[in-house]
Amino acid sequence: MTDQHEPRVAVVTGGGSGIGRAIARRLAADGLTVAIVDLNAAAAEAVAEELHAEGHAAAAFGDVDVSDRALVNAAIERVRTELGPPLVLVNNAGLQGFDKFLSITDETWDRIMAINLNGPFYLCQAVLPDMIEAGWGRIVNISSSSAQGGQPFMTHYVSSKAGLIGLTKALALEFGPKGITVNTIPPGFIDTPMLRDSESKGLLGGKVEDHETRTPVRRIGTPDDIANACSFLVDERSGYITGQVIGVNGGRNT
Ligand code: NAP
Repeated sequence: MTDQHEPRVAVVTGGGSGIGRAIARRLAADGLTVAIVDLNAAAAEAVAEELHAEGHAAAAFGDVDVSDRALVNAAIERVRTELGPPLVLVNNAGLQGFDKFLSITDETWDRIMAINLNGPFYLCQAVLPDMIEAGWGRIVNISSSSAQGGQPFMTHYVSSKAGLIGLTKALALEFGPKGITVNTIPPGFIDTPMLRDSESKGLLGGKVEDHETRTPVRRIGTPDDIANACSFLVDERSGYITGQVIGVNGGRNT
């Protein structure tokens, strides 16, 4: 086991924006040392600076495309050397897509799969040896409620996120005996730049706020809603929760 008094190191991909930023902030407030891994270097740096200003331990690892195994391995090696062994991993970076099914090109399909499914595959392979050595680890994969209920014109995205749910369940069974839990949060309708981008393209059938009345708890989700669930799942006390799909969606999917 690791020394329980050492701050654990958490890797959060896509930690420069939206849900990932909220998760990075929440885990830092919980006392973890946070590695913000993002394609967007400026955004990752900005979040790290925010956390430093608040007295938290964090570092930015920018220009890391999670779909590139060599970049992922290099980033995790830097995390290990500069911060310590990564014992918490949140696979959050993701790319959405809207296309009629018959119009999806191989390139678009492959790009979405590469980021949303290959990325978590590479990240998990990069950090699991550290977790196995420590006899302790927490992995949280951010999938999507669209993988639970389906979503028209998002077959590539939905398929990638459904794959992430399968990855979660299989990994949980393989690594449970090593003290490592693996769970997935499929968010539903969370107010982030990604959601507002969909709104601006007219893909939501109206404004984000129009969906409040269609949501049982009568509000749109916030990045903190996801961050709070993630904080719970990576906590020491959540060791008996693994292989689970923990929906955070205001009741839109049950
Ligand atoms: P967001 O605001 O667009 O943030 C995503 C972050 O990931 C951005 O900083 C982005 O960088 C980064 N990123 C994109 N591609 C990357 C790559 N290849 N490698 C590394 N980093 C990359 O999105 P969000 O709404 O917070 O979504 C976070 C996760 O939640 C995604 O996996 C998404 O599919 C999932 N999700 C969101 C919702 C929702 O309602 N918002 C619902 C279901 C699931 P750039 O700025 O350079 O693009």
